[in-house]
Amino acid sequence: MKTCPSCEKGELIKVDNVIMEIENYVFVVKGERCTKCDEEFPFEDETQKMIEASKNKY
Ligand SMILES: [Zn+2]
Repeated sequence: MKTCPSCEKGELIKVDNVIMEIENYVFVVKGERCTKCDEEFPFEDETQKMIEASKNKY
Protein backbone atom coordinates (compact mmCIF):
# COMPACT_ATOMS: atom_id res chain seq x y z
CA MET A 1 0.00 0.00 0.00
CA LYS A 2 1.05 3.57 -0.66
CA THR A 3 1.23 6.06 2.16
CA CYS A 4 -0.40 9.42 1.62
CA PRO A 5 2.22 12.09 0.82
CA SER A 6 -0.06 14.73 2.28
CA CYS A 7 -0.69 13.52 5.84
CA GLU A 8 1.79 10.61 5.84
CA LYS A 9 -0.62 8.57 7.95
CA GLY A 10 -3.38 7.40 5.67
CA GLU A 11 -3.20 4.91 2.84
CA LEU A 12 -3.98 5.63 -0.76
CA ILE A 13 -6.77 3.51 -2.19
CA LYS A 14 -7.82 3.38 -5.82
CA VAL A 15 -11.04 5.17 -6.64
CA ASP A 16 -12.80 6.01 -9.88
CA ASN A 17 -14.57 9.16 -8.79
CA VAL A 18 -11.93 11.79 -8.22
CA ILE A 19 -13.44 15.18 -8.98
CA MET A 20 -11.28 17.51 -11.04
CA GLU A 21 -12.01 21.04 -12.11
CA ILE A 22 -10.25 22.36 -15.20
CA GLU A 23 -11.17 25.68 -16.76
CA ASN A 24 -14.60 25.66 -15.13
CA TYR A 25 -15.34 22.14 -16.32
CA VAL A 26 -15.84 19.40 -13.77
CA PHE A 27 -14.51 15.95 -14.60
CA VAL A 28 -14.72 12.64 -12.80
CA VAL A 29 -11.51 10.65 -13.23
CA LYS A 30 -9.71 7.65 -11.81
CA GLY A 31 -7.11 8.13 -9.13
CA GLU A 32 -6.30 7.50 -5.51
CA ARG A 33 -7.78 8.82 -2.30
CA CYS A 34 -6.31 8.93 1.19
CA THR A 35 -8.20 6.97 3.83
CA LYS A 36 -7.32 9.51 6.51
CA CYS A 37 -7.39 13.05 5.12
CA ASP A 38 -9.47 12.39 1.97
CA GLU A 39 -6.89 14.08 -0.22
CA GLU A 40 -7.39 13.02 -3.83
CA PHE A 41 -4.67 12.20 -6.32
CA PRO A 42 -5.86 11.82 -9.90
CA PHE A 43 -3.75 9.58 -12.13
CA GLU A 44 -1.40 11.46 -14.42
CA ASP A 45 -2.70 10.00 -17.69
CA GLU A 46 -6.27 10.71 -16.65
CA THR A 47 -5.33 14.30 -15.93
CA GLN A 48 -3.75 14.64 -19.37
CA LYS A 49 -6.85 13.21 -21.02
CA MET A 50 -9.06 15.72 -19.24
CA ILE A 51 -6.81 18.64 -20.16
CA GLU A 52 -6.94 17.55 -23.80
CA ALA A 53 -10.70 17.18 -23.61
CA SER A 54 -11.14 20.63 -22.14
CA LYS A 55 -8.96 22.14 -24.88
CA ASN A 56 -11.01 20.47 -27.59
CA LYS A 57 -14.11 22.26 -26.41
CA TYR A 58 -12.85 25.63 -27.64
ZN1 LIG B 1 -3.69 11.73 3.77
